[in-house]
Amino acid sequence: MQRQPLPKQVDARKLCITNAEINATATVQQLGRFAEGLASSEGEVLAELKLFRGEQGFYRIDGHALAKVEVTCERCLTAMPIEVVSEFALAIVWTEEQAKALPKYLDAVILGEELLDLEELLQDELIISTPFVNYHDIADCKATGPTEYPAPEGAGSEEKSESPFSVLGSIKPRD
Ligand SMILES: [Zn+2]
Repeated sequence: MQRQPLPKQVDARKLCITNAEINATATVQQLGRFAEGLASSEGEVLAELKLFRGEQGFYRIDGHALAKVEVTCERCLTAMPIEVVSEFALAIVWTEEQAKALPKYLDAVILGEELLDLEELLQDELIISTPFVNYHDIADCKATGPTEYPAPEGAGSEEKSESPFSVLGSIKPRD
């Protein structure tokens, strides 16, 4: 299917009335807040959004996003590729009160007369769907390579506690 660059801002309620479908691509670099939690800002995001009027007249956005990105392995602190998959069912509402009254299977997007920022929406959904900690498969992890060398002292205890370098690892500049 033909994909377009992600439109930045859309008149969401109008698109719901016309049953719009958006098949778009975005770069991870475009999605700054999402990129912050990753090992690099390399990568691409594919997004499919369906906008329509649903039951009870709700203005709905159903979506699916797939991001191929790099995160930091918490064991060896090098980058590893993962796919972040996000599925969402949203309803556009005017107020906080309407948001609270939505059925459980719908998440609210509170939107006034302004345009909807699709980059913001997409990165919110991707951030929620990104695993908080990530590890290579044992066979691929640099920290658990061939064991011809004796394990360094204290290596065992390091496994159990949260690595003190995990934060450092995620902000380590990449070249
Ligand atoms: Zn690793």
